Amino acid sequence: MKKLELVGKKPGQPYTTIDVRGVQIGGDNFVVMAGPCAVEEKNVMAQIAENVVKAGGKVLRGGAFKPRTNPYSFQGYGEPGLKLLKEISNIFNIPIVSEVVDVRDIDLIAHYVDILQIGARNMQNFPLLIEAGKTNKPVLLKKGMTATIFDVLHAAEYILLEGNNSVMICERGIRTFETYTRNTLDLSAVAALKTLTHLPVIVDPSHSTGRTELVGPMMKAALAVGADGIIVEVHSNPENALCDGDQSLSLNDFDSTMQELKKMAKVLEKKL
Ligand code: PEP
Ligand code: MN
Repeated sequence: MKKLELVGKKPGQPYTTIDVRGVQIGGDNFVVMAGPCAVEEKNVMAQIAENVVKAGGKVLRGGAFKPRTNPYSFQGYGEPGLKLLKEISNIFNIPIVSEVVDVRDIDLIAHYVDILQIGARNMQNFPLLIEAGKTNKPVLLKKGMTATIFDVLHAAEYILLEGNNSVMICERGIRTFETYTRNTLDLSAVAALKTLTHLPVIVDPSHSTGRTELVGPMMKAALAVGADGIIVEVHSNPENALCDGDQSLSLNDFDSTMQELKKMAKVLEKKL
């Protein structure tokens, strides 16, 4: 049986760099993707985007279709949210990433966004992986909360098998016995993935901790451990966020952590 034929890193094989509208992900770059959990209304999005760009963020995040545990929770603005995200992307000249939850929406979402996000809950939705593999959009594949390192690598292999080589793997924390944090950020999985695959590896310090005060330290840990970037939730008014305010950095805290990351990046010879 063939194993990780496409995503596996062969001896001497260089790491893959993905170009997203001029933003390089992989190689000696450390890319910061930031924004609210869910797409918010226009003036909120504009304020967040402006500050993300100013602080050195290179990709704007925001979910228009949200995979919520509770069916009564806010489910996202849907297509109007994507339209707004695209409008903000054009105004601030920043690429966007947004989640595709349902295989039936993939063409719609691919029409608006620069990176398709496949969430932790859909990591082994094989028809969705296959359809994402048929698009020409880079894919941010989040590791499932109960998935092993090889599970996520095999999930990525499904996408590459369809001809789409632009896949990033994201560690977003796993379920453990710990309840203080929302999940347990497996930094060793990040280091392991860097030895096993040539694909860029991204860390999500927000969903992995669930607590604002832990996000900054985990952003720094991601850079230190050798990740190729982070995807982090930030909000102009976390208490009033439509979703995940408890783990969203304020614009000020994001900015000050970015200053610290820039100093670290210099020492580690990474471009930020
Ligand atoms: C998200 O990034 O918006 C998200 C829902 O994350 P995850 O799939 O990792 O839970
Ligand atoms: Mn979220």
